[in-house]
Amino acid sequence: MRFHVFLAGLMMAGLLGVSGQGQTDHTNPWTPVDVGPLPPIASLTDGIWLKGDLHLHSRHSKDSSNNSEAKIISFAESVGMDYLCITDHDNHVQGDVAHNTWTDPEFKSNTVLLLYGAEWTTTRGHGNAFSATPYDHQRLYDVRDQRDIVIEAVKKELAIHLSANHPSGKDHFGFSYDLVDSIEVWNSAVWAKNANAIMIWDDMLSSGRKLTGRGGSDSHHGTPDSPDLATKNTYQRQVNYVGTPTTWVFAKGRTLQAIVDALTNGRVAVSANPYAPRVEFYADLDHDGKMDMMMGDNAKATGKPVNFRVQLTGNTVAGASYTVHVVKDGDPFSTLQAIGGKTTTVEFTDTPKLLGRTYYRVEVEGPQTTYPQVPGSMALSGNMVGLSNPIYFNFDPNF
Ligand SMILES: [Zn+2]
Ligand SMILES: [Zn+2]
Repeated sequence: MRFHVFLAGLMMAGLLGVSGQGQTDHTNPWTPVDVGPLPPIASLTDGIWLKGDLHLHSRHSKDSSNNSEAKIISFAESVGMDYLCITDHDNHVQGDVAHNTWTDPEFKSNTVLLLYGAEWTTTRGHGNAFSATPYDHQRLYDVRDQRDIVIEAVKKELAIHLSANHPSGKDHFGFSYDLVDSIEVWNSAVWAKNANAIMIWDDMLSSGRKLTGRGGSDSHHGTPDSPDLATKNTYQRQVNYVGTPTTWVFAKGRTLQAIVDALTNGRVAVSANPYAPRVEFYADLDHDGKMDMMMGDNAKATGKPVNFRVQLTGNTVAGASYTVHVVKDGDPFSTLQAIGGKTTTVEFTDTPKLLGRTYYRVEVEGPQTTYPQVPGSMALSGNMVGLSNPIYFNFDPNF
């Protein structure tokens, strides 16, 4: 009786309509609508490509061996890295990263920018915190077992970039993806084990999350100072070390903050190693032959066709064939061939839908570039040369 009165009330209020078949008319308030004007695209030329590694363990992580910060940093300097984030586990020091990794006298370099960060090592898996300045990591450690809503508030107060680590498999990131700004889609030189990470990334992108994909070697083990110091893991130094893979960011300048900002905004590509070509991905919205946006950028769809360009910059193998896999909204869209040379580019055209989201990203396969300093890494990366971040259309910046 009361229930029928309630239903009748709803119907009178227009909240619940009943059709001829007895089904309710329902309007989803979250149905895609015009996103309105989007922020302008940043300059494609006012910036600098910087390469680095965002996931490294030094002697301050208990599961590391023969890997002082000085060893990591001098190696990074020798292979021309621009930035690093040494991300030691925080649980070995009960959260006190500030008085371990960061106060180590070896935490310095004249050429490599050193981000402040740590691997947040929790019961529900691992994430990396990145910051341009020292922050109170202890507070993030203290809330590791709390509900996501508590963690989110602390993350916002600390103004850190939080990233999901190795999202599938052991110690996978088990928190809400609404907490993070990026996801580790390429962990270590072993490319093949990242297939599920890529799948999770596509799911997050397809559900409207503008989430940056990044790499990280997760290397733990360095060269022993003498043979008797070798451990059962010492072999890893030859197959997975600084730069396997390498994450490129298009930063406004050579500063720590510009690197974190680029990482958040998504002007990011990942390459198998520091010498491998960088995958650049652009779009020409008005067909004037001049590119208007790059990966990480988000534009309003016009209903007109867009011309996309994939460019491999750096050491391509002259005459070699590179296979470019284009992914659109999580599904294979097309497979293109690019021939290595002075300029290695390939273009395609498609029309992003006028209403609702569309994204495109690319993965490039081909011959590996030799990385003599980590000689076993090339075989582990297989044919995977590099990948881009997405170019976005109609993504809601207030999502
Ligand atoms: Zn981890
Ligand atoms: Zn790690």
